[in-house]
Amino acid sequence: MNSILDGRSALKKEIDKIAEVAGYLWQNGWAERNGGNITVNITELVDDEIRRMPAISEVKQIGVTLPALKGCYFYCKGTGKRMRDLARWPMDNGSVIRILDDCASYVIIADNAVMPTSELPSHLTVHNHLIESGSAYKATVHTHPIELVAMSHNKKFLGKDVLTRILWSMIPETKAFCPLGLGVVPYQLPGSNDLADATLKELEDYDVVLWEKHGVFAKGLDVMDAFDQIDVLSKSAKIYIDAKCMGFEPDGMTDEQMAEMTRAFNLPK
Ligand SMILES: [Zn+2]
Repeated sequence: MNSILDGRSALKKEIDKIAEVAGYLWQNGWAERNGGNITVNITELVDDEIRRMPAISEVKQIGVTLPALKGCYFYCKGTGKRMRDLARWPMDNGSVIRILDDCASYVIIADNAVMPTSELPSHLTVHNHLIESGSAYKATVHTHPIELVAMSHNKKFLGKDVLTRILWSMIPETKAFCPLGLGVVPYQLPGSNDLADATLKELEDYDVVLWEKHGVFAKGLDVMDAFDQIDVLSKSAKIYIDAKCMGFEPDGMTDEQMAEMTRAFNLPK
């Protein structure tokens, strides 16, 4: 069977990255069953032949109107699909969609009519916002990192930048590689508009947002960049928890050591 990836090395490379990250999410234990989502804006990699490809689904409503997405193309994980399967067969467990000119509906164009995730409206809302604000970011990732979710079960960590400060102080690179820190969204029903709205607001100040008792939502230049930021924060959370398991509160880097990092690496905070 022909694939949209045939003869398109740049597009194939991007989809391969998505499959690679899906494998990491599964291997890390962050993607049980069909948990998690990946949506990537691939419009830059689309050629005229792809623009002429016929729809292989009926027209589907997004549920919201997103003016900045007119004519955009996305790779989206399929609803009910597993990350561990996507890692091996990305085009059987996700699909490429075209946003139609009304900016409120889409069609699937390749390779199979795999229905996108039920979280598509919230992911596309974030992409719409990224384009409107002139961002170069192309990827959104939602997953369930064990240690970060565990820490979200204690209210003492959920104040503004409390977790950011702790995680940055566990290992110097965390501040360099996740320079905006970790935003927090109080518990909301999965898939709800309230969760989407609160996430969108928090993403104005952070690249990674922790959903209380649920998981994280991250944006990045590409899917690897979004994954890396979650991975770096998760590593710091593991170090914190390991120290607690050894029976002591970790000292963390001092304020002066953190300020030194900011100066040395020209960091924003
Ligand atoms: Zn989830």
